[in-house]
Amino acid sequence: MGVSAGLWCINSDAEGDQGKLLTINTNGGRLFQTDRQPDGSHIVREDPTQPGGFGIGDIRVTDALMIVLARLDIEGGVVPILERQSTSGRAALYSFAEALRRGVQAELDVDPSEVTVGLQPRRAGDVVTAGIYVADQLENGAGYASELGRGDRLVRVVARIADDLGAIWSAASHQSCDSSCPDCLRSYDNRHLHPMLDWRLALDIAELALGRRASADRWAPITRRTTEQFADAFSDSLGHIEVGKQAGVSFVAHGQRVVGLGHPLWRADSMSVTNPRGVFVASMTGNGRIATVVDGRLAAAFPEKIFRELQA
Ligand SMILES: [Zn+2]
Repeated sequence: MGVSAGLWCINSDAEGDQGKLLTINTNGGRLFQTDRQPDGSHIVREDPTQPGGFGIGDIRVTDALMIVLARLDIEGGVVPILERQSTSGRAALYSFAEALRRGVQAELDVDPSEVTVGLQPRRAGDVVTAGIYVADQLENGAGYASELGRGDRLVRVVARIADDLGAIWSAASHQSCDSSCPDCLRSYDNRHLHPMLDWRLALDIAELALGRRASADRWAPITRRTTEQFADAFSDSLGHIEVGKQAGVSFVAHGQRVVGLGHPLWRADSMSVTNPRGVFVASMTGNGRIATVVDGRLAAAFPEKIFRELQA
């Protein structure tokens, strides 16, 4: 059932669907190890020291909704989750999934802890993207996920994210939040995702899902500040560093090298010369310079990425 240009639900009809939801707890990637007790039971070790171990699976029958984002106004139409195709794609989908829990809270008056969200990888042509599932936290479900699949509920939830939450998160009072905080996307139950969560990415995806174009203005203050701070920090060791903006892209230049800080959702593997990334590179390479583009979000968090590109 398609509900808007970019937002598609599957596994959902007017009655909602009860599905088996399997989640696997890998202990943050460290896996679990147990000690067998004399009575045959196992107790999980606090501090696994040997390699190996296992994840703990949990199968529940509950209401679940799968949301697939397609035909978005970005190159390829979908958000890749593999790093070689998109450096921020996975973080963007997780951020949007967590924003959905906030949107559901606003639209259905449900506590975010009552719905669980996650990603399920799926292939779209030559791209690996992911569907986003929304499921009731309680066994057998309280019906929130199937309610979300009814009529235009999902579109209204996403509009709540883009417009209502977008206004709050973009306000001056929240400008000190450079990725995520407890006032926007972070909570105790998503603590394993905190490094990936970014309210700007969540709003980008919400806008794209509504068939809009993701706002470039949202990233402009971040990328401009990053280029200025980079010049301040590295001009002592490198010599003169030029900062500026070309074709809408903030950049750092040193000698012949130019590094643009691109939109986080620009494809990392793009060969196109007509998309914004290609236009920036072409406009910079005309006079003998060598231009590359890095993910502006990652460059803000890890300025050494810019340094490496300048030295390449
Ligand atoms: Zn925040």
